[in-house]
Amino acid sequence: MHELSLAKDMTRIIGKVLGGCRPLDTVNITIGPLSGISPESLRFCFTEVAKMEGFGEPRLVITETEAKLICLDCNNEYKAKEFYQGCPSCGSFSRRILSGREFTVDSVEIMEGTDPYVR
Ligand SMILES: [Zn+2]
Repeated sequence: MHELSLAKDMTRIIGKVLGGCRPLDTVNITIGPLSGISPESLRFCFTEVAKMEGFGEPRLVITETEAKLICLDCNNEYKAKEFYQGCPSCGSFSRRILSGREFTVDSVEIMEGTDPYVR
């Protein structure tokens, strides 16, 4: 269950940025297909952790990116939506990962009326 520790990392980072716990409306994140993170599992964990730690019940919006790889056999650059997809032109699995391992918290929307900076 490494999604659980990721969810805890997320609330820790969000809490740090916001300077404390505050009910959140929406949390936008990006997950690459090669990050090894299960979006559904993370969604489940984050919902539980957020509630437990005083962030309310925010909507988690997940953007799933495509992975970019380069085939080391035929030099073809291709995109993959999941890990177990070889080169579409030669079928090779020997490749270099260009992108697709990302996991980022892009933005957070705070529940209206709870932002101390807006009066
Ligand atoms: Zn190839």
